[in-house]
Amino acid sequence: MKFLSTRGQTPVLGFSDAVATGLAPDGGLYLPETLPDFSGDLARFESLNYPELCFEFLRVFATDIPPETLRQLVSASYTRFDHPDIAALKPLAKNLYVLELFHGPTLAFKDFALQLLGNLYAHQCRVRGQTINVLGATSGDTGAAAIHGLLGRPGTAIFILYPDGRVSPLQERQMTCTGAQNVFALAVDGTFDDAQTALKEVFGDQEFRTRHRLSAVNSINLARVLAQCVYYLSAWLRLPPGERDHVEFVVPTGNFGNVLAGWMLQKMGVPIRGFRVATNQNDILHHLFTTGEYRVGEVHPSLAPSMDIQVASNFERFIWFAVGGDAARVRAVMRTFQATGRYTFENFDRDSFSSTRTSDAEIARIITRVHRDYGYIVDPHTACGFQELNPERVNVVLATASPAKFPDTIRAAIGLEPTHPSLEALKSRAIVKHRIKATPAAMRAFIDAHAEQ
Ligand SMILES: *Cc1c(COP(=O)(O)O)cnc(C)c1O
Repeated sequence: MKFLSTRGQTPVLGFSDAVATGLAPDGGLYLPETLPDFSGDLARFESLNYPELCFEFLRVFATDIPPETLRQLVSASYTRFDHPDIAALKPLAKNLYVLELFHGPTLAFKDFALQLLGNLYAHQCRVRGQTINVLGATSGDTGAAAIHGLLGRPGTAIFILYPDGRVSPLQERQMTCTGAQNVFALAVDGTFDDAQTALKEVFGDQEFRTRHRLSAVNSINLARVLAQCVYYLSAWLRLPPGERDHVEFVVPTGNFGNVLAGWMLQKMGVPIRGFRVATNQNDILHHLFTTGEYRVGEVHPSLAPSMDIQVASNFERFIWFAVGGDAARVRAVMRTFQATGRYTFENFDRDSFSSTRTSDAEIARIITRVHRDYGYIVDPHTACGFQELNPERVNVVLATASPAKFPDTIRAAIGLEPTHPSLEALKSRAIVKHRIKATPAAMRAFIDAHAEQ
């Protein structure tokens, strides 16, 4: 299968090259040339366990990787999850389930994609006989998940910049207490934006970028979207057959990567009734789905920090589908959006989407209420999903992070502090971080000294 850029000014690529490239050279995002139809495979998929299901799904896309190799890469990607179902579907009440996506090594759903991406990168290093240096800036979950996707993998090194003193103590420990030789947690003297700005300059230096074979960690990689389709499929297959046609997946949303994967799966012939985009107070997507207008906002830090976004970076893929795959129109939309900070859609798949917004005060109240009504503890991101459940549907709320990652918010809401053994273990391990200035020169010097050659 080949993959095209949403902006249409770049040659199509095979799966491995599209994954290695990340952002297309024309500034677009990669998508399959045509979407496969799985409707005839669903009965056959029912008996598969999670890694087998993931393999059967991905092999349709990753046609340039020999099937046995792909099977091993996929299988290795789901060995570090601490629940036998990998993505655990739990009933809470009639017509209400949670899909727990936090059983991976960093206790958030990003592990589903980044464990696989780490294995795909390491595979490319072996095939090409080359090393790879991965570089990214994070304000939280993505950095930790990316580090745990690559830690200890031969031929790779990962450099993650984060604002010193401005990520949660547990998130910092997840990045700095790995003990791995190929992981460099860089505590930047400045804000997340300072780190991001310096990073962009380092990536803009073509000679430096090529010399170190730098690759970016970001939420737009093709492999991330495809890996995320699989847990929707797995959840759908585990529901009683009489409920499957009425499913509404409720997705705590920031960059629109997670919910986009579910929606693309629906387009591949899985009869999912709908999706609810659950935002926090940073509600540009709620605004879009209620008014049709997509506009940038200012970011207001919330209790659900991984959903604090200004622009939903995966949204361009959805735009491509909304304009019927017309790349010239995607470019026009993105131009208007970049120039004015807004764009109004005439038509998109409104029938599949609804949305909600949840303020910080409501997040706290929902955590209390869900605990009281169902004896279940949700993290602040997942809490946004419990706003306005649809009584006419079978609601499946995606639990995107473990409550144990947010002990302070949970304690304030219910007087209990959830814990997790992996987080407890981190507390006794040494923090290894490198303090650096938020300048391109400081970053280049550090990478020169520590990159995989
Ligand atoms: C990243 C993240 C989200 C947002 O996911 P998107 O794919 O950016 O929409 C929600 N919850 C948690 C816990 C996250 O880490």
